[in-house]
Amino acid sequence: MVFRTAGVSPAHDHERARCARSKRKTRHFSAEPSSARSGARPAVKIAVIGGGLGGLSATLHLLQAGFDVQVYEQAPRIGEIGAGIQISPNASRLLVRLGLKAAMDEVGVRPLAVHQRRWDDGRTLQRAPLGAEVETTFGAPYYHFHRGDLAELLGAAVPQERIHVGHRLVDLVQNEARVVARFENGSSTEADLVVGADGIHSRVRHLLFGPEKPRFTGCVAWRGLVPVERISHLDIEVASHNWMGPDGHVVHYRVASGRFMNVVCIAEHGTWTHESWISRGEVADALARYEGWNPAVRSLIAAFPETFIWALHDRLPLPRWSDGRVTLLGDACHPMLPFMAQGAAQSIEDGAALASLLKGMPDDVPAVLARYEEVRKPRATRLQQASAANRTRFHLPDGPEQQQRDQAMATSGDRSIANIGWLYSHDAAAL
Ligand SMILES: Cc1cc2nc3c(=O)[nH]c(=O)nc-3n(C[C@H](O)[C@H](O)[C@H](O)COP(=O)(O)OP(=O)(O)OC[C@H]3O[C@@H](n4cnc5c(N)ncnc54)[C@H](O)[C@@H]3O)c2cc1C
Repeated sequence: MVFRTAGVSPAHDHERARCARSKRKTRHFSAEPSSARSGARPAVKIAVIGGGLGGLSATLHLLQAGFDVQVYEQAPRIGEIGAGIQISPNASRLLVRLGLKAAMDEVGVRPLAVHQRRWDDGRTLQRAPLGAEVETTFGAPYYHFHRGDLAELLGAAVPQERIHVGHRLVDLVQNEARVVARFENGSSTEADLVVGADGIHSRVRHLLFGPEKPRFTGCVAWRGLVPVERISHLDIEVASHNWMGPDGHVVHYRVASGRFMNVVCIAEHGTWTHESWISRGEVADALARYEGWNPAVRSLIAAFPETFIWALHDRLPLPRWSDGRVTLLGDACHPMLPFMAQGAAQSIEDGAALASLLKGMPDDVPAVLARYEEVRKPRATRLQQASAANRTRFHLPDGPEQQQRDQAMATSGDRSIANIGWLYSHDAAAL
């Protein structure tokens, strides 16, 4: 079968510190396959397209399972733009198994709770435990990271000769036995399996299933990274905070070993569709948008050294993820609004599941991919839908529906350990 088809200031300082740290560190190749070390040819050669959080963690899982994996990233270096990411136990348990716990503990923050509040008076709608209680119950921690820290620790765990930056995939050609991936720089590679981990604008998805643009969801987000000393007077608990109000919500939590508060202000916006992590916004615009919100929220926004704004996109669930020897993972196949904080977590689950299935059936890649879809699609689709539903729930105008929501949150437990068990207890590698 043939297919044809600017971040600066505090974030910048943090980036510099990270680079210095990484130069000091010895790279830990915990996931190198024993077959590769011994020189024997591993049974399955895999090309992962995209070195984001999903692609890097899939590479590590596949290496740990003993396969010969190379990862191809279009950017000139591995790294992540944007500030914060929450990694729940369903994903952190998989990263812990890759031998990354010490590295995660060094740069991650462990929030004590998730605190959902009203936008104006700050009344608590729900406060559910994270911290030790979640770790004991689910066997893995809940972390907050600076995205760059997480990308760096994943990238450092992959043997560097297996990472090919400056490789932008342009085409794929496959027959029953092999796939050839071609890159913009003129190079190409052959593999038994190609994994498209190339994000929401996935070229692999386009080559497999044709052109289809992501949808603008109608939400935009301002983000800011505030040095904690600027807001010490607010005495904010080390937690995941979510303030819900009419047509918007504001999430904030600490990242980078606790040195910065990552603040994301989401608003219904209508028409603006420029999607980028690095479009500069105006602090004054963000403050104007959150006029009348709780003084603590407004103080956080006022403390932004700078702000970036981007439009949030998603896509409808995709009927199929794979064709022949090519498959997708992460945002390439199931992008979602960030309102369950699960996009990256699901991409990490995808990679672990794929590695686990392939280990059991290395001789039949198409059959593995069929099973992979069967196992992963229902969960990812559920989370796409839950994320979209939270957009409505979080943005209700004050009135009867909002009162019902508040009542339900207070009585149902919402993010309580009992309610969230289906999500956090899942072990994507146990198939
Ligand atoms: C505001 C916001 C907050 C979020 N918060 C959370 C959270 O708290 N928890 C969570 O789990 N998720 C969160 N997410 C979602 C999460 O960021 C994404 O789901 C996750 O980053 C997807 O990872 P990925 O590796 O699939 O794709 P990406 O991170 O997009 O990585 C794709 C990679 O592929 C590369 N690439 C693209 N095209 C090509 C090509 N043709 N050739 C080679 N390389 C290519 C790109 O350069 C990139 O490095 C959030 C998202 C947003 C917008």
